Amino acid sequence: MARGSLKNNYFNVGDPYSEWCRENQVYMIDMDAVGICKRCKHPLYLAETCFDRGQTWKATATTEALANLASLPSFLVFYKVDEKRELESFRITQLTPIKGNETYLLPEGWYQVLELLQERHDLICTKKDRNVL
Ligand SMILES: [Zn+2]
Repeated sequence: MARGSLKNNYFNVGDPYSEWCRENQVYMIDMDAVGICKRCKHPLYLAETCFDRGQTWKATATTEALANLASLPSFLVFYKVDEKRELESFRITQLTPIKGNETYLLPEGWYQVLELLQERHDLICTKKDRNVL
């Protein structure tokens, strides 16, 4: 039988579903990012994302396992924003299919990588002839 219900701090603790799982010792994580085809919505990549505070590590085991099961590339993405909260730089590490070294990229560089993933998918996309609105 599931234990407990939400406490009085519903608006202060973030995700009630996550809290409920923790209370009942059934574990889950949030998937940070699933890149998708802009036409058919097929998944293109998985990513763990995090504000760049100079850290060198974030848990990625589940993301890597899912990516391997789905035969998708996956990435660890640390990102910095400026005072207007606009993205200014990335530290990217490819996790699967082959672990890469951390690479510093400006937004244009990361955009090119994501466009390449879309173009690679376009070869097999079932809706590649449709316009994106
Ligand atoms: Zn597609």
